[in-house]
Amino acid sequence: MSEETQVAAAGPVQNLKDMADLVSLCKRRGFVFPSSEIYGGINACWDYGPLGVELKRNVKERWWHAMTDREDIEGLDAAILMHPKVWEASGHVEGFVDPMVDCKKCKGRFRADKLEHAACGLKPSRKPGEGSDCELTEARQFNLMFKTHMGPLEDTAAIVYLRPETAQGIYVNFLNVQQSARQKVPFGIAQIGKAFRNEITPGNFIFRTREFEQMEMQFFVKPGTDMDWFEKWKEKRIQWHLDNGIRKDKLRFHQHKDGELAHYARAAFDIEYEFPFGWQELEGIHNRGDFDLGRHQQFSGKKLEYFDEMGKERYLPYIVETSAGCDRTLLVALADAYRFDGERTWLALHPALAPYKVALYPLMKKPELTEYSDKLYADVRKRFRATTDDAGSIGKRYRRQDEIGTPFGVTIDYDTLSNHTVTLRHRDSMVQERIPAENLIRAIEDQIENWGK
Ligand code: ATP
Repeated sequence: MSEETQVAAAGPVQNLKDMADLVSLCKRRGFVFPSSEIYGGINACWDYGPLGVELKRNVKERWWHAMTDREDIEGLDAAILMHPKVWEASGHVEGFVDPMVDCKKCKGRFRADKLEHAACGLKPSRKPGEGSDCELTEARQFNLMFKTHMGPLEDTAAIVYLRPETAQGIYVNFLNVQQSARQKVPFGIAQIGKAFRNEITPGNFIFRTREFEQMEMQFFVKPGTDMDWFEKWKEKRIQWHLDNGIRKDKLRFHQHKDGELAHYARAAFDIEYEFPFGWQELEGIHNRGDFDLGRHQQFSGKKLEYFDEMGKERYLPYIVETSAGCDRTLLVALADAYRFDGERTWLALHPALAPYKVALYPLMKKPELTEYSDKLYADVRKRFRATTDDAGSIGKRYRRQDEIGTPFGVTIDYDTLSNHTVTLRHRDSMVQERIPAENLIRAIEDQIENWGK
C-alpha cells in the first residue's frame, strides 16, 4: 500500500497566452537561445540549448520510429546541396516565390499574401494598410531560395542552392532506394534534415525561421490508389500529434481549396494548431500525383518508372507526401504543454518528449542521503534520461523540474534509509506517493506506458 498526499494548486490552471512567456522560459532554462546573441543576435535564427536538443531529439526519434518501424518505409539522408537542375525540375527556380511589398512610410516589408500575419518578430503586429499609415509598393516576386557558389569561382555557372525542402532528395533517389532495399510499390521514404528559405517575414519565435528542419515522408503508390493512401496518411499523421499528448481541440485539418491548391496537387490538407497567435500550419499532407517523378524524368532524361512484376506493367508512381516541421512540432509541444496556476509554472510534456523523465532529490545535503540517492540515480539512469538536484529547498527543486517538464520526482529522506521507500512525485497532479525503492523503475515504466490512457 502506498500513501498519497497532494498539494493544492495555487489557483485555476491557465495555458499559454503570450508567446513572450514561453520565449523567456526557453532562454532561461536552456531550451532555445537567440543565435549569435553576444553580437546582438541575427534575425529569426535560434540555437537549441541543452534541454532544447534533448526535446528535439525526442521529437525526431518519435517521428522516425513511427515511420520506419514499418516494413514499407525506408530511411534516407540526402545531401543539402544538390545539382542545380533539381530546382529547375521541381519548379523552385521559377515558382518558389512570395509576393513582397514594402511600405514607403514605415519601411516595413511584408508578404502580400499574408498581410494579416504581418508581425515583426514578437513585437505587436504592424498591420500595413491599417489606419491611414502604410503606403504599400506594388508586389514584387521574391525567390525564397538561398544561393551560394560551389568551388572557387563565383560565376553564374557555379550557383547552387541550399535546399528549401528535403523532399527533392527523396524523389531523385526513388529508384536507388527501391532497388537497393528491394521494395515494392506501395512503399515510402522518410527523411529528416535541414531546409533553408529566405522568408520575407520570419517570426513568432521558432515558428517561421530561415533555417529549419523538416521531417518528410514520401509514399509512392500505384495511380488510382492514391486517394485511399492519402486518407490513411491524413489520419495517421493527426493521430501521431495526438499521441504526443497535444490537446485534441487545438488541432484541426485545413483543406486547400481550388485557389490555394498547388497546380500539381491532387489534394492537400494541412494539420493546423491553435497557437496564441492563431491557427497555423504544422504539417502538410499532399497528394502530388506523378508531378515530381515526371518532372525529374523529363529534366534528367533518365527513366524513373517502376516495373510491377506481378502486374507486368510499367508506370510512374503517384506520391502522397507528409511534410512536418521539426522545429514547429517542438514549438507546438512546448506551447501546448505550458501551464501556470498563479504561482507554479510547469510544462505538461508527454514523458516521451520530456528532456528528463526523472529527477532525484536527496532531501538534504547529508552524506548518508546523498550516498543512497547517488546509487539509486545510477540505477535509474540506466533506464531513463534522469537528473539530480540537491541545491535549495525541496519545493524550489520541484519547481525547477516542473518548469522544464520532468514528469517524475523522487525524494530520498531518512525513512528511505530505514525502510527503503522513496517519495514519487507526479509533476501535473503534484500527488506524492510512497513506494519501495526497488519498485521505482517499474512504477515509472508503468506510468509512462499508460500515459494519457
Ligand atoms: P508557408 O505557406 O506558411 O510558407 P508552406 O506551406 O510553404 O508554408 P511547406 O512547404 O508545406 O510549408 O513545408 C512543410 C512544413 O515545413 C510546414 O508545415 C512547416 O511545419 C515547416 N516549415 C515550412 N517553412 C518553415 C519555416 N520557414 N520555418 C519553420 N518551419 C517551416
